[in-house]
Amino acid sequence: MPELPEVEVTRQRIGPLLVGRRIRSVATTRPSYVFLTRPSALRRGLVGRTVRGLARRGKYLVARLDDGARLVIHLGMTGQLFSAEATSPRLLSALARSALTPEAQRRFRPDAHTHLRLGFEDGGPEVFLRDVRKFGKVLLLPSGGSHPRLDRLGVDALELSGQALFAASRGRRVATKALLLDQAVATGIGNIYADEALFRAGVRPTRPAGSLTRRECMTLAESVPAVLHRSIETGGSSIRDYVAPDGADGAFQDERRVYARAGAECYVCGARIRRLLVAQRGTHFCPTCQR
Ligand SMILES: [Zn+2]
Repeated sequence: MPELPEVEVTRQRIGPLLVGRRIRSVATTRPSYVFLTRPSALRRGLVGRTVRGLARRGKYLVARLDDGARLVIHLGMTGQLFSAEATSPRLLSALARSALTPEAQRRFRPDAHTHLRLGFEDGGPEVFLRDVRKFGKVLLLPSGGSHPRLDRLGVDALELSGQALFAASRGRRVATKALLLDQAVATGIGNIYADEALFRAGVRPTRPAGSLTRRECMTLAESVPAVLHRSIETGGSSIRDYVAPDGADGAFQDERRVYARAGAECYVCGARIRRLLVAQRGTHFCPTCQR
């Protein structure tokens, strides 16, 4: 499932293929739960508009249009946003087995899973949203409009501050990991990155959030963007690997220090990495390095 780093890599790479271009045509699949905005309304709202910017909020991509409206896209489990002709083999983030390989993207012809297809006035390459499992979402927000899905998001994980984390943790008995996964506290910290950030900060995932010191919150708030940025950096170079039949999702997995390493030796102290469930999520930590 694409997490924040993969969505950010997608943003960085598809941005140049959207921004500054005027939409001439919009084709969609039939109305379904992918479309939070009906296809007919999407067509009316998008044709003739120019994309002014592509931002990311948590795991949502937000394209700003010249009339102030915003096209919001969530990639769900298997969503891919790409452009066939201008897409180099390494251009895209795609992490599921049902995803198209880079080679398949280059010779791509829209299929039954291509839920959104944007054509442009410049006659250049189209942009496609393809999603086999249909957990993705497409939403068009009119100028000034809002939607609960966006409204309830907390600060982006890359901008998490120690002060904010400290404030959010006061009086909370939930496990620190659960606090990190709470999208109202910070949006976009996935399971892998929560475990890695906690290791980096030396904080045990089960610690009651309210017991964190201010200093620990500062360290943790630095660790979260650090692991995310590192994954974003490796995302680009790792794209080639994702086509591996085992679903390998790139170079960052080689840098994981606790996630999916239960029973293996800690790289720092040699103790065995442990695994347990926290907030119903598989959670990995070093019993010595994390307190
Ligand atoms: Zn250790």
